[in-house]
Amino acid sequence: MIFSNLAEKLQDTFDKLRGKGKLSESDVKSALKEVKMALLEADVNYKVVKRFVNKIEERAVGKEVMDSLTPAQQVIKIVNEEMQNLMGGSQEEINISPDPPTIIMMVGLQGSGKTTSAGKLARMLSNKGKNPLLVAADVYRPAAIRQLQVLGERLDLPVFSMGEDSDPVDIAKGSINFASTHNCDTIILDTAGRLHIDQEMMEELEGIKGAVDPDEILLVVDAMTGQDAVNVAQNFDKRLDIDGILLTKMDGDARGGAALSIKEITGKPIKFAGTGEKLADLEPFHPDRMASRILG
Ligand code: GDP
Repeated sequence: MIFSNLAEKLQDTFDKLRGKGKLSESDVKSALKEVKMALLEADVNYKVVKRFVNKIEERAVGKEVMDSLTPAQQVIKIVNEEMQNLMGGSQEEINISPDPPTIIMMVGLQGSGKTTSAGKLARMLSNKGKNPLLVAADVYRPAAIRQLQVLGERLDLPVFSMGEDSDPVDIAKGSINFASTHNCDTIILDTAGRLHIDQEMMEELEGIKGAVDPDEILLVVDAMTGQDAVNVAQNFDKRLDIDGILLTKMDGDARGGAALSIKEITGKPIKFAGTGEKLADLEPFHPDRMASRILG
């Protein structure tokens, strides 16, 4: 599981701290140095680590904490709070339109898990009583349309497609009519991804955004790609002003730095975590639970 190394290292550090009873300033500082190393090893962005550790040090090195009855516990509590803040504080929902249909536009690089996540999200919304429509707007990868149709069949949910020869903007627009005639209150657009960010892809996505004014632009990024995931998020956000992030492959053994860096770097929250290949493997992202999992 993601962060298992980081969790182990931090727990060692905190065990040492707990063993000390009364803490000196240098005890706290050397513990924080270990925290810093562990985060860097977990592939958390360097600037993010620096700011994070400085913030903790400001709060933790002081009479109030070190003279308290349980100084180690206080330090750990501060680390936990700051780690939650780093990941956005509280769980953030997707934007729902007061005037249905809600349009959710899924964007991301090829292989990030976009199509699978579109299906997972449709399943989650359907379980909550929504009536989602999956839309195949990735026309460059013929298998993507078929993949979405198969997902729709498995979930018993409608899929709108116009084949490979249509313009994605027309497909997106067409899906709104289809949704209204089929009583669908939520549209999930599966857009095209490429292996790398390129101008043509961004222009196409901007075109779709301009044409249908989505309520939520959800960027799908692969947690296994570490710092790259953060760069990808920054690039997409610059062009599209995304609303949130769905971080996939959190079940992998990646070092997990993306989950800890991406909110701080982009300012956009992680809203969902993909935790496996099955359609049920999607969870709302809870910064508090994630921090507790890392810190034990
Ligand atoms: P797309 O090109 O972005 O549409 O990517 P796909 O949806 O086709 O997914 C690419 C691969 O990643 C597939 O093999 C998926 O099963 C896999 N995948 C997607 N999400 C997850 C996840 O959360 N965990 C794991 N382990 N695999 C995932």
